[in-house]
Order: sequence, then C-alpha cells, then structure tokens
Amino acid sequence: MRLSQGFWQTLKETPNDAEIPSHQLMMRAGLIHKTAGGLYTYLPMAFRSLKKIEKIIREEHDRIGCFEIQMPVVTPAELWKETGRWDVMGPQMLRIKDRAERELCVSPTNEESVTDVFRKTINSYKQLPVCLYQINTKFRDEIRPRFGLLRGREFTMKDGYSLHMDKDCLDTFYQKIYGAYVAIFKRMGLDFIVVEADGGAMAAGGAKTHEFQLIADAGEDTLVTVPGTGYAANIEKAPTTRLNLKPQPTADYNEFATPNQKTCEEVAAAHGLHITHTLKSLVMQVIRGEKVHYYMVMLLGDDQLNEVKFKNAMNADHVRAAQAGELEALGLIKGFMGPTHQAEKLSVLFDACVDLNSSYVVGANKEGFHAKGFVPSRDTKLSFKQLDLRLAKDGDVMNGQPIVMKKGIEVGHVFQLGDKYTKSMGATVLNAQGKAITPLMGCYGIGVTRTLAASIEQSHDQDGIIWPAAIAPYDIYFGVIAKTDETKKIAEEIYESFLKAGLEVLYDDRGMGPGGMFKDADLIGLPLRVVLGERDFNATGEIEVKVRKTGETLKLKREALVGTIKEKLQTLGKWA
Ligand code: ATP
Ligand code: MG
Repeated sequence: MRLSQGFWQTLKETPNDAEIPSHQLMMRAGLIHKTAGGLYTYLPMAFRSLKKIEKIIREEHDRIGCFEIQMPVVTPAELWKETGRWDVMGPQMLRIKDRAERELCVSPTNEESVTDVFRKTINSYKQLPVCLYQINTKFRDEIRPRFGLLRGREFTMKDGYSLHMDKDCLDTFYQKIYGAYVAIFKRMGLDFIVVEADGGAMAAGGAKTHEFQLIADAGEDTLVTVPGTGYAANIEKAPTTRLNLKPQPTADYNEFATPNQKTCEEVAAAHGLHITHTLKSLVMQVIRGEKVHYYMVMLLGDDQLNEVKFKNAMNADHVRAAQAGELEALGLIKGFMGPTHQAEKLSVLFDACVDLNSSYVVGANKEGFHAKGFVPSRDTKLSFKQLDLRLAKDGDVMNGQPIVMKKGIEVGHVFQLGDKYTKSMGATVLNAQGKAITPLMGCYGIGVTRTLAASIEQSHDQDGIIWPAAIAPYDIYFGVIAKTDETKKIAEEIYESFLKAGLEVLYDDRGMGPGGMFKDADLIGLPLRVVLGERDFNATGEIEVKVRKTGETLKLKREALVGTIKEKLQTLGKWA
C-alpha cells in the first residue's frame, strides 16, 4: 500500500482514556477509532491483522474437521427463555424489541441458537460427532468496558460448538480442539499458557474446561502456576493451601472486650495475636432457585473468600455479601459476628485451612466483644461443613510445592457443557439401537479482537508495537528518502519486486524526512523496516533492512533484498 494514497493517520498525543500500552498504541498507531464507550471502528491496519488472525483460526478448525457457519447476531428471546438464560444473563444482555413488540437480544454468545440448529437438523448418531463454528460479532453490555479492544462491548468472537453421543466422544474431540487452540496461538507467535478454568457446577461432574491466557501485566485474570510441575489454574479454582500454620492448642472459651476493634487485623494488633489465630466471619447470601439462605463463612484472619469456589460449592444461582439490613434481621452485629450465633436460615462453613480442633479468636456476637478459645468442632452452635473456600495467594503451596502467581489475558476458552443446553432445549438423537438419547455438547471460544489487543500488550516497547510476523498488518515498512527522480524510480522498482514476491508492503512514498518516517515505522512496528536512502545508496549501492524485534540491521545489495527478507520473515514466524 502506498502511503501517499493510503488511509493511515497516527496520533502524537495519547488519548486520556487509554490506560494501558496496547490501548494507547492502538489509538496512536491509527489501528482503531473510538465510536463510543466500548465500541470501536477497526481501521485498515487493524482490519488486516484481524483477517490474519481469523485465517489462522479457520485453517486450524477446518484441519480438524469443523465447519464454519454464521448465525444471526440478533436472536429471539424465546430461545433464551427455554434455557432460563433470558433472566440469568442480566443487564449484560442488550435487549431490543422489533416493530411487532417481539423481544430480541444482540447475542452475547450463541449456545441456544446452535442447539436450535442441532435439534432441528440432527436426528441420528450417524451424523455425529460434529463441530460448527462461526466468527462474528457479539455484544455484552459490560459494566466496565475498558482497555480498548481487551474488554469491549461489541467484539468479534470465534465460537464453536460440538455435539456428541457420549462422554468418550466429547473427551476425544476436546483433546483435538485443545490441540487446535495450541496450534492457533503458537502460529500467532504469542506467549500463552493453558490453565484449568472454573467450570461452574458442571465441572463437579467431571466436565473439563481450560482457558488460554496470554501472560501480561495488564491481564485481569490471576493465574496460579506451580513451576516444574506443569500445573496452572485460574485463581478462581486453584486449590492451594498455606504453609507453616501453627494453630493454638485448645483452650476455654472466653469473651474479652474489643471496643471499636472490628476487623481481625484490628483485634490482632490490639491484643498481640497472630492473625492466623483469628477467624473472620463473612455472611453471604445464597440464592438457589426460589430459595434464599445465609452462610457464615469462617476464614483465617488474613485470608479472602473465593466467591467462585463458594458459588460452585453452594450450587447457587447468585451469591453476594449480606447487607446491613440482612445482618440485622439475622440478629448479627457487624464487626463482632461469630459462629456461636444461632439463627434460622443460617449455616456455618469453615475454610479447609481452619483446624477444627484448635483455638481461635472470633466475634462474640456482642457489641464490643470478641472471644478467645473458640474451638470450631466444640463451640459451633449451628450445623457446619468444612470446604476449600479461600482465595489463593502468594506464599501458598500445592502438594508442598511453592506457587507463582501471574497475570493473564483470557484469549480463549474451551468448555465441556455436557447436556446443559441439549437437555433444557429438548434436543435428542437416535442411537444405534433406535433409542432417543440426549447428546452432549462442548463450546469453544476465542476473542478475536481481544487477541489482537493482547498481542500488542505482550509485544511492544517505548517506541511502539512489535508485531508477531504472522499477524502483522504488513510485512515490511518500505521507506524512501530521495530527492532525485532516478532514486524514486529505483524505489518504485523495488516496491514492484516486493509485490511480485508476494510480500505485503507499506510503502512510505510520502517524501518525509528520516525523523518522522522512522518514528512512524517504529510506532506501527511491522516486522521489517527497509530504507532506501539516496545518499547511502549512491555511495554503496546498499539498502538498509532493520528487524523491529531485535534491532538487528543489515545492509544489502538490491539483488539480495527479496531473498534475505523472505528468510528473515520465515525465522520471525510469518509462515508458521
Ligand atoms: P471474561 O471473563 O474476560 O469476561 P468470559 O469468560 O466471559 O470473558 P467467554 O464467554 O468465555 O468470556 O467468551 C469467549 C471469549 O471471548 C473469551 O475467552 C474472550 O477472549 C472473549 N471475550 C469475552 N468478553 C469479551 C469482551 N468484553 N471484549 C472482548 N473479548 C471478549
Ligand atoms: Mg471464559
């Protein structure tokens, strides 16, 4: 593309609302235009990269026998009502009405739509297994759209859905799609890890789910890894434990005054206690179907509740911390609550790190008082259970091995759905014996636009983007610094020879000086920068090639140009 005739504007200033490098760089390098909060126009440079990402995704899906389809972006409420998700989805689902007052939504995902396709087109086991996928627009009215394309409201997703007669078949296909995902992100040249993800209540039935995470400081997900073991999980599910806990021996239960000391930290500091000898009481509201219940969750004083683990363990539809009015109604005093309190609809849960036969300090259920010598197994007045409920943190171990936490950006997610959708939507298939069975499903997502932003988040420097060669908008930034028509003519010939060789070239023929041109070249960060400088070329007959990623610079004669460039691009992973 000739820049003199092209559509490409870079910005000198970083827009105020761009907080992280990828967002700043995508704005400054003219990749995206903000239409409104969480809504972006993909400009030509970004669009080219997105098409490359999509091409890699398509090739790897087609390789394992998936079929591309396209479902409507707008879907009818009836489908969502069949599975109950019309209510469950909440405000992130953008709902609209057509002229006949029929309810519709802009799809945030498409399990219902695809299950409808499956149930109306697949009758026999002979048609299975099958996997359909699409690459199209999704809309989620995110509470906090931010970081540009990383968390948009409208975004492009690849979503795939497979259908199987039984768990063995689903497991076999899961391995295949997992392999395809590994291939996809490798080909894109990204530094990713695969982590065990939270599978909700379904995972309890042995359903597998994994996330593909790009390691980056700006990531919103926290990942727990155990070096040397290959173990990695999203913190939402990581079952780590603490090291070197030294619980107190049993003692008598005794109240003591703790005026204005409402947190474990405050009580521990005022009375010279070790924080792990105190227990914090959190009261959580749990909604399961029509029923509402309250749980007092007991954690070591410096631990936090993992709400995802809690929600799964409770098999709940919704969980949240109880509010002031609810605590009052239960007869509890905030800041001084403890598991010796009794109330209808209240049960107690101890985290697995609590030693049920040791002494702890807890709230005494009396304004301004806590109690020492609380022994869970002896003194709990309500029915109780012990479960792994805490959030993993630095210093934890898994099977005795120290963990390392990392930040990640979730770019892909594979998930065994089991019969969740096929059952509620009444999809059945006849087996070899002619009996109707409920088939099993898997679903597989990739955030296409998020992957683009994440790749920049992962690979940039202070001067700009450093594209992985496989998804760069162009291969080469070809700049010409020339006064004479003769050099300009040579530049044209070189440009033609690049095109003939199948190279993708951003040809800077704007007649800029080297300063501005090099700045733009670094900012857009194509894998190679090729510069024909008149003075050098006339003196030596050489053209400069610079590798953006390594800074390596080569001086090449015209004849060697195409061959060497192809070799460089090959090693940079363009044709991975
Ligand atoms: P997150 O936890 O980040 O909100 P999710 O788990 O809700 O994502 P999925 O329903 O698994 O997302 O969607 C599949 C993929 O779509 C995700 O792995 C992610 O790459 C992408 N994605 C989800 N939400 C967004 C968004 N708001 N903007 C861009 N991409 C998104
Ligand atoms: Mg996900």
